Amino acid sequence: MKGILIDRFGRNINYLRVSITDRCNLRCIYCNPEANIIYKNQQQILTYEEILKIVKVCVDLGITKIRLTGGEPLVRKDVVCLVSLLSKIKGIEDLSLTTNGVFLEAYAKDLKKAGLKRINISLDTLDREKYKFITKFDGLHKVLNGINKSLEIGFYPIKINVVVMKNINEDEIIEFAKLTLKEPLHIRFIEYMPIGCTKDEWEEKFVPYNKIKNYCQSLGVLKEIKIFDNNTAITSYQFENAKGTISFISPVSKPFCDRCSRLRLTSDGNLRSCLFSSQMVDLKKILRNNNVNNQVVYNALKQSIIHAVKIKPKESQILCNNYIYKELTMCQIGG
Ligand code: SAM
Repeated sequence: MKGILIDRFGRNINYLRVSITDRCNLRCIYCNPEANIIYKNQQQILTYEEILKIVKVCVDLGITKIRLTGGEPLVRKDVVCLVSLLSKIKGIEDLSLTTNGVFLEAYAKDLKKAGLKRINISLDTLDREKYKFITKFDGLHKVLNGINKSLEIGFYPIKINVVVMKNINEDEIIEFAKLTLKEPLHIRFIEYMPIGCTKDEWEEKFVPYNKIKNYCQSLGVLKEIKIFDNNTAITSYQFENAKGTISFISPVSKPFCDRCSRLRLTSDGNLRSCLFSSQMVDLKKILRNNNVNNQVVYNALKQSIIHAVKIKPKESQILCNNYIYKELTMCQIGG
């Protein structure tokens, strides 16, 4: 029988983000900078079979939403095959993927056919030179082609993740907001989070939610709407007669920990119940214990997942004195 996962604070944990690789084809200044990343080797990374085993136990326990992420999920071989296998698991109501969009034009059709429901595309600038500066790759046109292809083949909703950074792309907030007037795109302005950087580096780039929202409101009245973000932590807004929507992900200014429904599986098999906490449960160790049978593995995974939910903190510790800024980047944890 399908369960339901409720944590100590009454939150329903129904969402698992699965990082399928820590590798990425981009070198974004705030996420995967060339200088200090040591990638995991193939043996350290969960196989698709192992990922499927974990997902099945999670679904039995009450997870209904799965998002594939990374690193860049589209750089891992046979990702379409993984999507296809996941889409056949009974109990998964929502199967989505977060990508930087560079390979999306090539993959979009096959991903849709394989059963992927939704796509989030990360894009922080609409300017070619700035894109090169942020990602160290001349690929803006590829991402735009990927977005157009996804629109063409009918992915809905298509969400565009924009991490807002002072002196880098703050001046493009209005341009991104304007896109929603003409295109059925859902622009999500994300506050730059203190992950994988020093406190000074973070403070230098951070733009708070209210400032981001003010830029958008200079274009017109933003009306609160209820659509696909129903039941999630995020409120959506829309300009009158706009085709798309706008939302603000503000983990620093307006934390939504009280509504957080997430677990995160890292590419090397650790289950984290809070993005901002280094506490985690090692599931790979259980999966690779050759001395026990499948039922024992299943039960042990179940107990460990329940434990991860049990230790999910009430709220994130960012901005507390003992918060560790530079532990890992988003690419390593799984964004
Ligand atoms: N490669 C995929 C992509 O680019 O969407 C998935 C992984 S990426 C780590 C997921 C998301 O995390 C991206 O939207 C990225 O911009 C965001 N991200 C990474 N570091 C961040 C930070 N410090 N603050 C806010 N968002 C961040």
